[in-house]
Amino acid sequence: MLLTGKCHCGNIALEFVWDGDATEIPARACGCTFCVKHGGVWTSNPTSKLLVAIQDAALVSRYVFGTRTATFFVCSRCGAVPLVTSKIADHLYAVVNVNVLENVDPSWLRRGTADFEGEDVESRLARRTRNWIADVRIAEGGA
Ligand SMILES: [Zn+2]
Repeated sequence: MLLTGKCHCGNIALEFVWDGDATEIPARACGCTFCVKHGGVWTSNPTSKLLVAIQDAALVSRYVFGTRTATFFVCSRCGAVPLVTSKIADHLYAVVNVNVLENVDPSWLRRGTADFEGEDVESRLARRTRNWIADVRIAEGGA
């Protein structure tokens, strides 16, 4: 199933190809200091694919903090945060903010919380390689 979404102004658009039907989508409200302030709620599926289309790369703020292993893509025009990426052993992984998805029925979301404070970097990266989207392409400059 193709899930689509974008930031509020449309500068960062997502095509998220969910393997199978998407009626059980985990939605994790992250407890990190950034996500608490932004209301970030994330999903991923290791067998899914993500295509990110950025119209104007100059209007994307790539924000890192803490362990600096994750990059938050913040639209600097509208302020939405559609995705986070993590580069691990030269491979790009990502999670998607369920709040920017536009063709998802709210009843499909399996809401929960996630708090990874205190997790060491090695465990954190290992978890991402297991759970995050492993097929990620980012196209800049419009389509
Ligand atoms: Zn935007």
